[in-house]
Amino acid sequence: MKKIPYLIFFIFLFGNSLVFAENKWSEHKAQHFIIYYTNAPMDFVKSVEEMAEQYYVEITDNLGFTRYRNWSFDDRAKIYIYDGQDDYVASAKLMKWSHGAASAVKKEIWTFPTAHGFFDSTLPHELGHIIFREFICPYAQVPLWLEEGVAMFQEKAKRWGTNKIVREAISRGTFIPLNELTWMALNSQTPKNEVDLFYAESANIVYFLITEFGEQRFVNFCRKLKQGAGFDNSLTFVYTRFRNIDDLNKAWRKYLDE
Ligand SMILES: [Zn+2]
Repeated sequence: MKKIPYLIFFIFLFGNSLVFAENKWSEHKAQHFIIYYTNAPMDFVKSVEEMAEQYYVEITDNLGFTRYRNWSFDDRAKIYIYDGQDDYVASAKLMKWSHGAASAVKKEIWTFPTAHGFFDSTLPHELGHIIFREFICPYAQVPLWLEEGVAMFQEKAKRWGTNKIVREAISRGTFIPLNELTWMALNSQTPKNEVDLFYAESANIVYFLITEFGEQRFVNFCRKLKQGAGFDNSLTFVYTRFRNIDDLNKAWRKYLDE
């Protein structure tokens, strides 16, 4: 949907498949992925393969995760390419405003060729979700802003661009502090400007954490999450200068004010 161009839906707790009653898919096997498609041309499918393989390495790298388990054979991720948005929404039962969705548990991505910024945004974003969740565990409880911020960190254009958006929100007085961001619930009724700001702030805070305090610290933080320490404990254990999320909020604001 044009209305919310970069809102990309993420589902990580799917139980059974939503999608695959009909056996309409052709299969293209790659090293770490299996790509399913129906009418998409082969050159598009091959580009998906090439880019997905490239992001597989890049994302693991830029989050500082050392790959501990290769995606091979039955463990390959599956990418389902619907013909178009109508097909995607109807067959996959996904929201009209979404352009891509992923399940970390099933290690599957669903999208369609005309999805917003297919190669630069949708694909790395959804893969980012899967790789992050694979590292911290699909069931770890973390705020949505962390989840979405990590995924948006993979969309290169969104990393830097958000400084300006968030600074403008501060000067307009619409900035959402981190503790509010943490409790914010998004649904189909949430106004577009709020949704946009939620995503911009999420991307920005993760960018701040990774670039200001380093990849290694971010990995240690993710490791604590993986160990089940919980979000608050993991934060204060690794980022020792923050006693709580308000301290993180203050540091982030200071960075934005400079
Ligand atoms: Zn997402």
